[in-house]
Amino acid sequence: MTELRTLKVALLGCGNVGAQVARILIDDADALAARTGARLELGGIAVRNLDAERDVDLPQELFTTDAETLVKDADLVIELMGGIEPARTLILTAMRHGACVVTGNKALLAQDGPTLYEEADKAGVQLSYEAAVAGAIPILRPIRDSLSGDRITRVLGIVNGTTNFILDQMDSTGAQFADALAEAQRLGYAEADPTADIEGYDAAAKAAILASLSFHTRFALEDVSCEGITAVSAADIAAAKEAGFVIKLLAIAEKLTDEDGKTGVSVRVHPTLLPREHPLAAVRGAFNAVFIEAENAGELMFYGQGAGGTPTASAVLGDLVSAARRIVLGGPGRTETTTGHVPALPIDAAITSYYIGLDVADQPGVLARIAQLFAEHGVSIEIMRQTIHRDADSNVESAELRIVTHRAREAALAATVEAVKRLDVINSVTSVLRVEGV
Ligand code: NAP
Repeated sequence: MTELRTLKVALLGCGNVGAQVARILIDDADALAARTGARLELGGIAVRNLDAERDVDLPQELFTTDAETLVKDADLVIELMGGIEPARTLILTAMRHGACVVTGNKALLAQDGPTLYEEADKAGVQLSYEAAVAGAIPILRPIRDSLSGDRITRVLGIVNGTTNFILDQMDSTGAQFADALAEAQRLGYAEADPTADIEGYDAAAKAAILASLSFHTRFALEDVSCEGITAVSAADIAAAKEAGFVIKLLAIAEKLTDEDGKTGVSVRVHPTLLPREHPLAAVRGAFNAVFIEAENAGELMFYGQGAGGTPTASAVLGDLVSAARRIVLGGPGRTETTTGHVPALPIDAAITSYYIGLDVADQPGVLARIAQLFAEHGVSIEIMRQTIHRDADSNVESAELRIVTHRAREAALAATVEAVKRLDVINSVTSVLRVEGV
C-alpha cells in the first residue's frame, strides 16, 4: 500500500469544543486518514494556561502557549479559542503561511468576516466555519455545495438554543421571561451575561452568514435587523397558544422586491408566531433547526444540536476532512461565491403578517373603526377575536382584541399599528408580533 502523506494540524484552544476535537483527531486517526487520503497529525495545541485541567486526557507535550509558532508550521489550523484577538491575527498569519483554517468563531466572522474571506482568497486557502452556525447541524456546506445548482428563496432558522429553550419553557410551563431565563442559567443553557443571546445578537451574526451563503452576496451584521426576546411576555405566549401558534426567535433571510421594484434580501431576527403544525414549531428545548425554501428542491429542514463540545466538534472535523481532501487533490478549489450582488433591504420592505393584541374600550362601533383603519392602510385582517373583561371593583367593561393580519409590507403594518395607537378607543397595544408560516 502506498504511504499516505501527512498533514500537520495546529489546534488553537482546548476548551469545550477544542478538547473534543483533539480527542477525535487522536482516537479516530486511522478512520480520518482513510477518509481524507492523508494522515492528520495533531502537531500542537495552543492554550493560555498549560496547567489547566482538561475534559480529555491528552499528551502534555502537545500543549504550548506559543500559538504563533504553531500556526506558521501547519497545513491546517483549527481556531477554537473564541473572541476577536488574538484569534483574528492568528487566522490571518496561518492563511498567509498557506494553511487552510477551520473556525467556529461566529463573533469574529460577524465582526471582521470580509477581511478573513479576502485573505483566504488572496492566499488561495480554504476558510471553513460550519460550527459557527447551528453547532452540529451540517447547514453551511449543504447551502454552499449541495444546493449550489438551485436558487434559495428563503431561509428560516432557529439558530440560538438559549432563546429557544427560554421560549419553549414559557410555552410549556406558562413561566414569565425572567423565570425561564433563570431556569436556563441554572441548567447551563444560558450564560451569566445572556445579552448576546436574548437580544438576538448571536442569532443576527448567524443570520448574516446564512444570508451570505444562500444569496451569494456578503451581508454584514449591520445589514441584519435585530429584535430579541426580552419583550415577549407570558401573556403573548398564552394568547399565541390559544390561537394555535408558537413563538420562536427566527433568523430570516428572504429574497424580496421592494415597493420601487428593487430586488434584494431582507435579513432579520425577531420573535415570530408560527402555526403549531409548522415543522419549526416542533423544535423544542435548546435544539436548533434551519428551514430552507429553494426553487427546485422545495422545502428542506435541517435539525439537531446547536451547541455542546462533542456535537460542535463533529462539524469542525467535517470541515477539517473537507479542507484536507482539497489539499490532497491539489488546491482549495472554488467554495463560496459572491457574485450575487443583491442589496440588503431594510426591515420596512419585509412582507409578513402581524399578530396584534389590543386592550380596547367596550363600546359599540369600536370593531368597525379598527377594521376601517386597517383597510385605509391596505392591510387586511385574517382573524379578529374579542374577549370581554369586567373589572370587579369598578364594574367597567373592557375588551381584549386579538388580530392576525394577512401578509403585507412591514412599513404598512407598522404605520397601521401607529394609527391604531392614536385611536381614542384604544387603552393600550398589548403586543405586536410578526407571524410566519401561514
Ligand atoms: P472555551 O471552552 O472557552 O475554550 C477556549 C479555549 O481557548 C481554552 O482552552 C483557552 O485556553 C483557549 N484560549 C483562549 N484565549 C486564548 C489565548 N489568548 N491564547 C491561547 N489560548 C487561548 O470555548 P469553546 O466553548 O470551546 O468555544 C470555542 C469556539 O467555538 C468559540 O468561538 C465559540 O463561539 C465556538 N462555538 C462553541 C460552541 C459550544 O457549544 N461551546 C458551539 C458553536 C461554536 P485555557 O483553557 O488555557 O484557558
